[in-house]
Amino acid sequence: MDPFLETTGGLWYKTLVELMDGKRIAQTIRARIQEEVHQLKKHGIVPGLAVILVGDDPASVSYVTGKEKACAEIGIRSFDHRLPASTSPESLLQLIGHLNQDPEVDGILLQLPLPKGFPERQLLNFIDPEKDVDGFHPVNLGKLLLGEETFLPCTPHGILKILELEGIDPAGKHAVIIGRSITVGRPLMNLLSRKGAGGNATVTICHTGTPEVSVYTRQADILVVAAGSPRLVQGHMVKEGVVVIDVGVNRIPDSTKKSGYRLVGDVDFDSVAPKASKITPVPGGVGPMTITMLLHNTVLAAKKRMSTRGFQTEGLI
Ligand code: NAD
Repeated sequence: MDPFLETTGGLWYKTLVELMDGKRIAQTIRARIQEEVHQLKKHGIVPGLAVILVGDDPASVSYVTGKEKACAEIGIRSFDHRLPASTSPESLLQLIGHLNQDPEVDGILLQLPLPKGFPERQLLNFIDPEKDVDGFHPVNLGKLLLGEETFLPCTPHGILKILELEGIDPAGKHAVIIGRSITVGRPLMNLLSRKGAGGNATVTICHTGTPEVSVYTRQADILVVAAGSPRLVQGHMVKEGVVVIDVGVNRIPDSTKKSGYRLVGDVDFDSVAPKASKITPVPGGVGPMTITMLLHNTVLAAKKRMSTRGFQTEGLI
């Protein structure tokens, strides 16, 4: 347990909340993935991830840089494709087609969101499902729904890993998710409600069509917030003892920072943490786990390549 002191309104409170340190959990998992990469290299296979970034959105540039750095740290080769926003959708399709055929590329990541005007879904659908390490291809999302083995989308998978490694079994609990995106909320809803380990929760999903979100958040044993709305969830909206996973990453202006901004989550940490039994921080919570599960999927894809060469592979993580 890692109790910490918090100051609010000039008063000191010793809270019993436990921080779920995504960075620390990610390090543990990455050490194991690194060992897998080492084993693959012994068989002449270097896992390769192609990363495509279109345009220069600062948040996307920072995510892509972080992903490439994480690859380099554990020995995954990354192939960097940074394209101007003026790139045509046709040449992007052509690039994806080329990467689909490239035997050195195990995984293809198309950084989202794409600049306005790009047919995002059409492009994602064009990625070879065997190289779809983000898990957004209809084939892989369909397999997820069916409970078949597939590339799980990285953020929901990272959240499951946090819960597992923090000893929180969702079975029998009421999990409330805010956000129904295909990257976070909807796959997570399926994973948490599926029959089997890490699942068996009763899941409620809230979204912009939910009239009063707090009616549901107050019932949550596990609350996952992925809305993209700074400090949407306040202390009065949760019950005592709730486990809180804050997925949101929002840049808010901060003149004390050199960059002029700082990152906050979708949860108002100061008012929610004192009521929570466990909570993820922002930054340093879900973010590092998302990247870790991307590394995991890339190695999984490389292991499939290895098994096609007749080598034995064993389960990872
Ligand atoms: P999105 O915009 O695609 O979806 C947001 C969802 O939240 C929508 O379904 C919407 O209905 C719901 N929503 C928004 N405001 C709401 C409100 N006031 N009440 C109820 N529902 C509301 O966003 P996304 O891609 O799912 O990302 C959500 C947030 O998570 C963003 O801040 C994003 O940056 C962050 N994110 C972080 C990671 C990570 O690794 N840490 C990964 C993915 C997304």
